[in-house]
Amino acid sequence: MAAASKTTPNPSSHVHMTKKCPECFTYLPLDSKLCHSCGKAVGPVNRLGLAEKPPNVKGYALAAIAILAFVIFMWWGFFTE
Ligand SMILES: [Zn+2]
Repeated sequence: MAAASKTTPNPSSHVHMTKKCPECFTYLPLDSKLCHSCGKAVGPVNRLGLAEKPPNVKGYALAAIAILAFVIFMWWGFFTE
């Protein structure tokens, strides 16, 4: 019984051998989750070979903006009657 298909990795998805820390630009292994130089969490590599910042930072900033917008909206609602 012969195997119908071989599992060949997609060449376009593995163009980078290393990624760079977005904070200190140290070269890191592709699978690293933490920068060994500055200790910041790093995400997956992007098209530029730079590690993306982890999504929780973006989510935290978005939550802060949402709370701030809500507070401003409430203030505007109460003080402009
Ligand atoms: Zn770093």
